[in-house]
Amino acid sequence: MVKKTVSQNKILFKDAQRYLVGGVNSPVRAFNYVGGEPLLFKKGRAAKIYDYDGKSYIDYVLSWGSLILGHSHPQVVREVGKKVRQGLSFGATNETEILLAKAIQGVIPQAQKIRFVNSGTEAVMSAIRLARGYTERNKIIKFQHAYHGHADYLLASAGSGLATLAISQSKGVPRDFIKETIVLPWTDALALKKTFVKYGKQIAAILFEPAGGNYGVIPPDAGFLKYAVSLSRRYGSLVVADEVITGFRFRFGALCHELGVDFDLICLGKIIGGGLPIGAYAGKDEIMRHLAPLGKVYQASTFAGNPVVMSAGLTTLKVLSALRDGYAQLEALTEYLAGSLEDKAGPDLKISRFGPMFSLRFKQKERFVKFYQRMLQRGIFFAPSEFEANFLSFAHTKNDIEKTIEVAKDGKY
Ligand SMILES: *Cc1c(COP(=O)(O)O)cnc(C)c1O
Repeated sequence: MVKKTVSQNKILFKDAQRYLVGGVNSPVRAFNYVGGEPLLFKKGRAAKIYDYDGKSYIDYVLSWGSLILGHSHPQVVREVGKKVRQGLSFGATNETEILLAKAIQGVIPQAQKIRFVNSGTEAVMSAIRLARGYTERNKIIKFQHAYHGHADYLLASAGSGLATLAISQSKGVPRDFIKETIVLPWTDALALKKTFVKYGKQIAAILFEPAGGNYGVIPPDAGFLKYAVSLSRRYGSLVVADEVITGFRFRFGALCHELGVDFDLICLGKIIGGGLPIGAYAGKDEIMRHLAPLGKVYQASTFAGNPVVMSAGLTTLKVLSALRDGYAQLEALTEYLAGSLEDKAGPDLKISRFGPMFSLRFKQKERFVKFYQRMLQRGIFFAPSEFEANFLSFAHTKNDIEKTIEVAKDGKY
């Protein structure tokens, strides 16, 4: 008789569905795009994560790009452990906040003043509020498909044509809330220029991801961004760089610096929290001083600057700083993985890659699903959608990469 083992994972997911909406706390975790039951993970070590049945996976999701050192980096875990023993939260300034701010400013000089928050969503939302308060203007420009967190007025897709009213992608967002959001096609210089000509003095800020990480991977276009910055300067609008996903991902610092693209405010998140919830926005003192308590733009938080989070972030940046020459190798390894996967999976797989960030796309969705399920079954965890980015961490070894390529081999997708 064949003994049937009960999957602990399946039992847990049933329970998850009883108590959590769709069994998850964030939509893409539900695997809607690829079907099948989503995984629940119990622990992570370096490049691997483990589900509740004890099965291991090579992780290319890395908490949506946050864990650039891989899971449970020993130094990060040790420092966080020390901090935990000193108290979990004070609701007052702690030395670690100063040190993390200093570390960030050391490589992002425009970040003369920093405000920490608890998520990327909060960072972008607050930066936009500050830009509006500072300029005393209301309109903002964002680009089609760019994701900037779930603030109401940023959940806007493209209106048809120039400057038509943006349409919200989510129910529950009143039309009035997004009427000051102008959505433009990415890299459409003419549309951008026309928008500035028409609304110039009403535009508080232009908001962009220097490289797209939330609609498949979209490599940066420095020329377009520089043009956008020059237009913003001409009309007195602020430039807000959303580097929540790109900050410290491609180099030790901001991607905008690499591209030679200037900005007034920068939003950070993900990597700078070392795996704990974080967001930050920063800019020149002259702008940041408009924030309360110095200025009249209000933004507050119970947990912002939490010492445990700050310690995870600070230790991550310390370790990363020592690895800063290793980014090129991280990129080379990713290039090798992407090229080999394309070879193995056949001509219908197209990988869009920039640095150590890549997304997978097949000619037909069903083939992606087939590929995905096979890889997952054999211990490779990719982002469960063609539109989500995958990442390499400094913990991924050549061996992990070879194993991933090996699994993709001989597949019929
Ligand atoms: C992840 C992300 C956000 C939102 O950050 P959360 O911490 O999930 O709120 C905002 N902007 C970009 C570019 C992101 O990648």
